[in-house]
Amino acid sequence: MIRVTVWNEARHEAKNPVVAAHYPLGIHGAIAAAFPNDQFTVRTATLDQPEHGLTHDVLKATDVLYWWGHLAHGEVSDEIVERVKARVWAGMGLVVLHSGHFSKIFKTLMGTGCDLKWREANDRERIWTVAPGHPIAAGLPECILLESEEMYGEHFDIPTPDELVFVSWFSGGEVFRSGCTYQRGEGRIFYFRPGHETYPTYYHPHIQRVLVNAAHWAAPTKGATPVYGNAQPLEPLPVPLPAQKAAL
Ligand code: ZN
Repeated sequence: MIRVTVWNEARHEAKNPVVAAHYPLGIHGAIAAAFPNDQFTVRTATLDQPEHGLTHDVLKATDVLYWWGHLAHGEVSDEIVERVKARVWAGMGLVVLHSGHFSKIFKTLMGTGCDLKWREANDRERIWTVAPGHPIAAGLPECILLESEEMYGEHFDIPTPDELVFVSWFSGGEVFRSGCTYQRGEGRIFYFRPGHETYPTYYHPHIQRVLVNAAHWAAPTKGATPVYGNAQPLEPLPVPLPAQKAAL
């Protein structure tokens, strides 16, 4: 079982009846429902909970963290951002969604401005699979069509992705790197573009398939736990350390 935590600032749902109508259980509720319960245990966490719902215990019990934020990036405490970053470095997967491009956690892990073009005008979006052999693209068509979405356009100020899985085209003529993978420390990161709050994007079966595939891809693998710092030699050195000399 892969342990997923879906984090959402959950502010649009409270303010905008259009968003609340699409997402009566919150955007986090819709994302959480995409994961089949025979493969995943899923919990949700929101900004207004103590420690934003991301306590040490919750993060320790999370294999892959999903992040949706927009209005309230500045309200996420630096302490929690550092805590999440440390977990990513230690191997936790992180999937950053849509306007999470401007979240503190994504910006600090990327080290760039993460800015982009945008427009809310019911653009049609075609999400093209450009890495059909990638695990995140498994079971998907060549192109996912979303009839209405917010436009995000290049240039997207991110580091060159390790792998580019999806590229979007918009009816206004723009293109965008919509599915980008990174590794930071032991952790895998996937940025996935669609998911503006005024559209029911997270109910689309192909979008849900991407979310599920991303969890399989980003889940930690059980490797050795590295030991850092001063190290004793495993073999006799040509010039023994003082401690070894004393023992001779
Ligand atoms: Zn948006």
